[in-house]
Amino acid sequence: MESITFGQNSKNMKKSLFFLSAVILFACNQKTIETKELTADEKFDNYKNQFVLDLWKENPVWASYEGFHDYDNQLPIPDQTRKEAEVNFWKNVQLSLDTFNLDDLNENNQIDYHILKDKIQSNLFYITEFKSDTWNPSSYNLGGAFYQIINYKEKALNDRLLAIYEKMENISDYYQTAKSNLEKPTQVHTALAIQQLKGSMGVFEKTIMDSLIVSTLNDSMKSLIEQRVNNSLVSISDFVSFLTNEVQPNLEKDAKSFRIGSELYAKKFKHDLQAGFEAAEIYRFALKEKQILHEKMYAVSQKLWSKYYPNENEPKDSLTLIRKTIEAVSQNHVHRDSFIVSIRRQIPELERFVQDNNLITLDPNKPLVVRETPEYMRGFAGASISAPGPYDKNANTYYNVTPLDAYTEEEAESYLREYNHYTLQILNIHEAVPGHYTQLDYSNQSPSIIKSIFGNGAMVEGWAVYTELMMLENGYGKGEPELDLMYYKWNLRTVCNTLLDYGIHVNNLSEEAAMDLLMNQAFQEKSEATGKWRRARLSQVQLCSYFTGYYEIRALREEVKALLGDQFDLKKFHEDFLSYGSAPVKYIRELLLKDIDKEKPLS
Ligand code: ZN
Ligand code: ZN
Repeated sequence: MESITFGQNSKNMKKSLFFLSAVILFACNQKTIETKELTADEKFDNYKNQFVLDLWKENPVWASYEGFHDYDNQLPIPDQTRKEAEVNFWKNVQLSLDTFNLDDLNENNQIDYHILKDKIQSNLFYITEFKSDTWNPSSYNLGGAFYQIINYKEKALNDRLLAIYEKMENISDYYQTAKSNLEKPTQVHTALAIQQLKGSMGVFEKTIMDSLIVSTLNDSMKSLIEQRVNNSLVSISDFVSFLTNEVQPNLEKDAKSFRIGSELYAKKFKHDLQAGFEAAEIYRFALKEKQILHEKMYAVSQKLWSKYYPNENEPKDSLTLIRKTIEAVSQNHVHRDSFIVSIRRQIPELERFVQDNNLITLDPNKPLVVRETPEYMRGFAGASISAPGPYDKNANTYYNVTPLDAYTEEEAESYLREYNHYTLQILNIHEAVPGHYTQLDYSNQSPSIIKSIFGNGAMVEGWAVYTELMMLENGYGKGEPELDLMYYKWNLRTVCNTLLDYGIHVNNLSEEAAMDLLMNQAFQEKSEATGKWRRARLSQVQLCSYFTGYYEIRALREEVKALLGDQFDLKKFHEDFLSYGSAPVKYIRELLLKDIDKEKPLS
């Protein structure tokens, strides 16, 4: 699923990591005294740990989001001085990174070195070129940052409130600076900011105030905090009025386009995905892939037609034929009350299939627990994975499934048709076994603080998408045409995400053409298509990550297969591939090919 919750899970993972990183650093410093000579890898490990501590010091808001709470009390003003300091920070990281020689480092550190080098360039790009602080007012939404602090239960409530008290001191300056930073906002981001900021006021009015009432702080402190909460609310609501009354009216005639254009898009694609292909190339691959999928869907729909429409002639138009077949096949779905039960029953079946077919070794000590999504996490995707951190080995991994209780009869029916008997199996492969859950388990075995902060989304999503194909290729579903058809539809969504994103930002794709792509060519419901059109105007590149990672992994497998011939072992390929953690596919490829080169017998 294209769930946003994935990021939240990795946040949990990080929390435990930071405690440990501090310990490692301490231990390393001790070692310095005893042994004097450090290996290149030890030096690099120290460097990484110090870098992360510096990063949080420089970025207190980001730190709170990532589960590092030492700087909760700080709120930097986003002015010119700060921008310059940020640029300097990254340039200094570059200088110190340059003192390492890549060849002296082990494979894991080589990947971390590459990732860091890319991230330095990426951050400089965001600060000096992309500059969303001048056109995206929603970048000044502080609700989440304060929520992360008040919700951090490891710290005593009084301490959290005192940190918040200090952090609130600068809110008025913060929003004055925000106003002067905005040059020419886009309409969609301004509307989003107004909506989100109104929601964020609830964090102050409700979440923080409720906590204040139950806290044991003395009355004078409580009233000081309450005063600052009120001042904060005034600052935020003043910023909202500014956006509503001064910014928005002018946008009717003079707004910045939400389309970022080909030049910025190409750069953002490079920085965000760290792919082995350029944006324009992946767009061409996606166009071709759509055609291939349409051909396959047409063939399988022809096969199924008479079974589902025994008394009707096949429609002449191939897209209509496919759509009607999908509609009929989607009727096969579970009852709303057995949604979770049927998922729970499926996981052991998937595990057995993976084992029986030698696809990848699964960790028997870490069973996946299927549970109803906890209330506080509901509202986004219908299914997601919550994994324990790399150093939190005894914790459970959960597969959260949201029950359909809140849905009307009609809504439930539509949801169940979407996640019908066939699609539900593909969803389980993607989210659980051998998709996200299995990948996370492997990545926890090669813990890296760099990868846990800058983990590669294209690799993570690409792996989950790749496993859907891989399971079917290896006989999962026994070639049942209905499963094939639903798989193609699901895969087509990934392909069309790329076409939509690139189309909107680079090719000036109109709303009408976007709807045609999603509804007529990708067979999506109107509600889904409308949501995508909105999301693709608010974000850039992220929608490409699924197809890009998938395409790269598939291509890499074919490359390795061609190199090894008879010696190719799918299970070994999967395990080797995942052993490098959530790293960009192009760097995994480099190391994999190097290893193969070493292992190859002399001929
Ligand atoms: Zn996913
Ligand atoms: Zn039904």
